Amino acid sequence: MHFVVLGGGPAGTQAAMDAARLGVEVTLVERDVIGGATDMWDCIPSKAMIATGGAMSFLDRSDGMGLAPVRPHLDLERLRQRIGSITSRLGRATETILTSQDVRLLRGEGRLAGPHTVVAETADGPVELEGDAILLSTGSRPRVPDWAPVDGDRVLVTRDAYPPKELPRHLVVIGSGVTGVEFVHMFSSLGSEVTLVVSRQQVLPSKDPEVAAVLEENFLRRGVKLMKGARAVAVERTGDGVAVRCDDGRAATGSHALLAIGSLPNSESLALHTAGVVVDAHGYVPVNHHCQTNVPHIYAAGDLSGKLPLSSVASMQGRKIAEHVVVGHTVAHRHLNYDKAASAIFTEPEIADVGLAEADAFAEGRKIRVTKVPFAATAKALINDDARGFVKIVSDPATGVVLGGSIVGQHAAELISVIALAVTAGLRVQDIVESMLVHPTLSEALADAAE
Ligand SMILES: Cc1cc2nc3c(=O)[nH]c(=O)nc-3n(C[C@H](O)[C@H](O)[C@H](O)COP(=O)(O)OP(=O)(O)OC[C@H]3O[C@@H](n4cnc5c(N)ncnc54)[C@H](O)[C@@H]3O)c2cc1C
Repeated sequence: MHFVVLGGGPAGTQAAMDAARLGVEVTLVERDVIGGATDMWDCIPSKAMIATGGAMSFLDRSDGMGLAPVRPHLDLERLRQRIGSITSRLGRATETILTSQDVRLLRGEGRLAGPHTVVAETADGPVELEGDAILLSTGSRPRVPDWAPVDGDRVLVTRDAYPPKELPRHLVVIGSGVTGVEFVHMFSSLGSEVTLVVSRQQVLPSKDPEVAAVLEENFLRRGVKLMKGARAVAVERTGDGVAVRCDDGRAATGSHALLAIGSLPNSESLALHTAGVVVDAHGYVPVNHHCQTNVPHIYAAGDLSGKLPLSSVASMQGRKIAEHVVVGHTVAHRHLNYDKAASAIFTEPEIADVGLAEADAFAEGRKIRVTKVPFAATAKALINDDARGFVKIVSDPATGVVLGGSIVGQHAAELISVIALAVTAGLRVQDIVESMLVHPTLSEALADAAE
């Protein structure tokens, strides 16, 4: 069997690795860098910048740790080198794992040329591949509306910002979803003045209002300006900066603007029609619970599949696809349950959640038990001089089974793993309470919240 994978992000590389490990011949076609947009442009560089900003804000608060105040100085060139070094190390590591498992790597732009045929345009000319199974995992790119003259200089998309040529004196961020708030946090902690254009009345409109309120409070404390209820309709270059015009007549001015208003799937150049693969009205490739498209031996995964746009979800889809390609329906195959995917927002404080949200349970009229503990009651939070936030656990009042939870506070993205495991494995709150955890740690708040 020959499995051909188009796109080497987390979905494609995971599927290729797992299928090769299970004994299948695999060819992976990648037009740019192994590791994908997640390593090069999105997840990793953004988190590396946030970590540098976090180090700066930590030093800024050094008096709280009993130190004389320290004023760190940002060195953009060193930051650029740091990001380059992290992303290239990750890319090399993934490439080494793939080649050590005999995955054939082909550099070039790939497209379908029939139900079983892929053509890769390589530097040495087109290469035709015949696949018994094919995976489309070509990811997505930032959405750029026609009213924003993105130039990579003053008007930026996220991929222009790692780091930009100069630290924006005043950055206007358009879009207050996960990506928007992470960039607000990133640049305000690096020292830029920031204005956030929020189209609704709440940042993170899809999140629990209590969670969003903690973040808004932190933004305001840092001097971030929130322009609420304003939808950006135009971005203009002015003499030495930008003006973001909104539908209610207001304008936000700054030195730079950054768009964080979603993404578009990389599906147009795949010649999907040659194999009869259907796309939806937005260009995503719909899939079933095995990640099969309407053509059963052609799979789609990652951002292209229009499910949750997360690296973790993309690689889990890749894992499941490899199993399905190799064993098909012959072995019990656990379906992916997207409702159990944990996610995090790397702001300060961090925000993470998994499973059933309290608000959704109320909306469904479902009986739940909600327990909540603030970090202010946890010794380690006080030791760390950061007692902001809380842990909330949602469980079934009849059985005690953990249904979901959210954490706001330091290391929330790490701590949510415990609740994610409980949700996936169907553990009860009592199982968390009875785990003998290390003291003093932030995870003790989880046990307290489970009581
Ligand atoms: C700013 C930002 C921050 C993010 N942070 C996080 C985070 O912290 N955690 C998280 O879980 N997710 C995060 N995400 C989401 C995450 O990056 C995506 O969900 C993830 O990259 C999707 O993986 P993928 O495998 O679908 O594709 P990608 O990672 O997009 O990779 C697709 C690959 O396909 C290649 N390709 C495209 N077309 C072709 C073609 N025709 N032929 C050959 N190759 C092709 C591309 O070059 C690319 O390498 C973030 C996204 C953004 C925008």
